[in-house]
Amino acid sequence: MIDTDITGLPDLGTKTDEITIFAGPCSVESEEQFNAVAECVAANGLHWIRGGAFKPRTNPHSFQGLGEEGLQIMQAAGKTYGLKTLTEVVDSEHCDLVHSYVDGLQIGTRNMANYSLLKNVGRVTADSHKLVLFKRGMAATIAEWLAAVQYITMNGNDNVILCERGLRTFETATRFTLDISAVPVIHKQSLFPICVDVSHPAGVRDLVPSLAKAAIAVGCDSIMIEVHPDPPQAKSDGPQQLTLPQFNELLAQLREIAAVFGKKLV
Ligand code: PEP
Ligand code: MN
Repeated sequence: MIDTDITGLPDLGTKTDEITIFAGPCSVESEEQFNAVAECVAANGLHWIRGGAFKPRTNPHSFQGLGEEGLQIMQAAGKTYGLKTLTEVVDSEHCDLVHSYVDGLQIGTRNMANYSLLKNVGRVTADSHKLVLFKRGMAATIAEWLAAVQYITMNGNDNVILCERGLRTFETATRFTLDISAVPVIHKQSLFPICVDVSHPAGVRDLVPSLAKAAIAVGCDSIMIEVHPDPPQAKSDGPQQLTLPQFNELLAQLREIAAVFGKKLV
């Protein structure tokens, strides 16, 4: 049973010839680690770097992020390398703090239905109109996701990018099942740009290039990729993070694919 028939609907999605890359480590771990990625991202002519300072970890004993120190490292790197910064806000009480340090706020999959957080993020960004990257819940339908995003927009900020990051299914060969169909569906059902996070559904770095190529082919507006200078030493999501040389090589391939569609990576 399909909840909305999109037959014949036009693409509403923003038409731009740019694909924004949100690359960076899963977690901000140190100045040295974060700056190494920032230098690489900037050298590739990209505009944004991502990194987690407050981490929503499945296991409470896992690394929880550097908190405000992580935000300071991000802000300094953003200035040094001329990059905009994106980080996740996991808790309503951190909205103002996070907003004061970065250019974009991410809402993670575990918080898609945390409506009080969504309202607070909408309120905190209402004047600045800073970017909100709103991930799909790992067990949410597209209709639920599009309903939830209104908690942000109705509180004052419609500068939102939706992000598909994979669903929980019966499949265990990948960490999550990437719903690539969400890209054209979102373009028909909403005006929001759509990002594809290619790292969290993959779970292992070898699958990341294929998913990134597929994301461009299916018409995404942006891509999220986790990159780390030394993935085996990473404090979170080591197996799925690309090394810097792998990231450089993938970007070269993605630039060629994007060009086929008349687009460029930024
Ligand atoms: C992340 O981007 O680091 C993250 C925790 O993502 P997700 O919410 O998709 O698991
Ligand atoms: Mn991660």
